[in-house]
Parts: sequence; structure tokens; C-alpha cells
Amino acid sequence: LVALEDVHLSFGDNEVLKGIDLTVARGEAVSIIGPSGSGKSTILRCINALLAPSSGRITVNGVRVDTLRTEAERIGLRKRIGIVFQQYNLFPHLTVLDNITIAPVRILKEKRAAAERHARELLERVRLADKVAAYPGQLSGGQQQRVAIARALAMRPDLVLFDEVTSALDPETVGEVLAVIRGLVREGMTSLLVTHEMRFAEEISDRIVFTENGRIVEDGPPEQIFHRSQNPRIRQFVRGLG
Ligand code: ATP
Ligand code: MG
Repeated sequence: LVALEDVHLSFGDNEVLKGIDLTVARGEAVSIIGPSGSGKSTILRCINALLAPSSGRITVNGVRVDTLRTEAERIGLRKRIGIVFQQYNLFPHLTVLDNITIAPVRILKEKRAAAERHARELLERVRLADKVAAYPGQLSGGQQQRVAIARALAMRPDLVLFDEVTSALDPETVGEVLAVIRGLVREGMTSLLVTHEMRFAEEISDRIVFTENGRIVEDGPPEQIFHRSQNPRIRQFVRGLG
């Protein structure tokens, strides 16, 4: 579903991606782990065409996304890809229901009633059925993040990108957000996650990708990365030694 081939990207003379090769098959859950500044978020932003690589090829669903020329083409791509960030960025003046239905109604031109029905189903799925009429400011961080996930799913994406979605949350609400993601992965939603939750990544991922300094150092099943890696840097990192 997603393929990156020899992707390079520089900010000025700082090369932050130095030849990334990465694939995510339909239905797969892949987690990217690695130290701060290693290029994890940059990889996600390239897949979503928020950043254009300096060289290399990126395809999503068979379509080259690194060479999209117009903003309309990029928006067309982003409709198919859900993205959830550390900051949930809900619209504060809209209810939970309206936060979820606004994009399907405006961008996918769904009928209001159909969009609301779908939103209520998604709220069931993220266990917030009782919060349809609430405003974001009335919710906890974990609840807001679950609304953000429901909002991403409302576009019926082919793929969801998660960038450290629990990093800004209170420890007691992290679990409820991870439970929602675990459910999505089990249902077969194609997912690419950047996370610092090592136990969670090990449990839910089909593959783990370890990045350092703009390169993929190792890509393999969780068991290999967490328990059998020969790479001293990875062994140190997964033991929580940074
Ligand atoms: P973290 O775990 O801290 O989120 P990361 O692995 O996601 O780190 P990136 O955000 O991808 O890292 O950043 C990779 C490198 O690119 C860093 O050195 C960062 O300073 C640099 N960088 C990222 N965005 C920009 C930008 N818009 N302009 C210039 N440099 C940038
Ligand atoms: Mg990041």
C-alpha cells in the first residue's frame, strides 16, 4: 500500500533522510521507533505529501505522491490517509459530532444524516458515545485524542498515520487511547505509527523499523528488534536507555 524507495530529504544543507526504504502492506501495522531527531515524523510527512523529498520515490496505493504538482492533487491524496498527531487540534467551537462530520460533509460531500450516523458509530468504537454533544474543552486529553482518531476514521482512509499520539497525555489516559489503536489494528486498519510506547509497539506491530540519523538501521518483526537485535544501539534503546 505504501512504498518508499531511496528517499532523501534535506532542510537546507541538513540532510535528515538519507535513503529511506520502507513498505507497508495493506492490513499491516508498522511502528517506527528511534531517537529524537532521527527523521520519524519527517517520514510520515513525506507519505502525506506535507513534505516533498529531495530524491527517491514514494507511492501510496500505486500512485506516486512525491511528484504531485498541484495542491488539489495533494488534498486528493490526504483524503485517503488519516493522520493523528500528538496535538489533537480539534475545533474548539464545534461539538464532538461536528468535529467528526465537518470533513466528510465538506470534502467528501456526504449527506449530513449519513455523516452523523457514521460519526456515532465511530464514537461507539472509541467509547465516547455519550460525548456527541460535548465541546473539546469539556473533555480530557485522552478523550480529545480519541475524538481526533474518530475524526481521521470518518474519512474512511486507506491508511492511518499516528505520530506520538500519546506523548502529550497524562499517564492515566494513555491506556484508553492505546486500546482504541489496538482495536483498529486488530480489525486490519493499515497503520504506520511513530511511538515511544515500546511494550505497545512490540505487542501490536507486524514489523518494527528502527531509525537513527536519517537512516533505517533495522526493519523486522518485533521479536527480532526487541529481543534478538545484534545492533548495540538498538539493544540500548529498547532497554529504555535512550
Ligand atoms: P522526535 O522523536 O523528537 O519527534 P523525529 O525522529 O520525529 O524526532 P523529525 O521531526 O523527523 O525527527 O526531524 C528530523 C530532523 O529534521 C531533525 O534534525 C529536525 O531538527 C529537522 N527538521 C524537522 N523539521 C524541520 C523543518 N521544518 N525545518 C528544518 N529542520 C527540520
Ligand atoms: Mg517526531
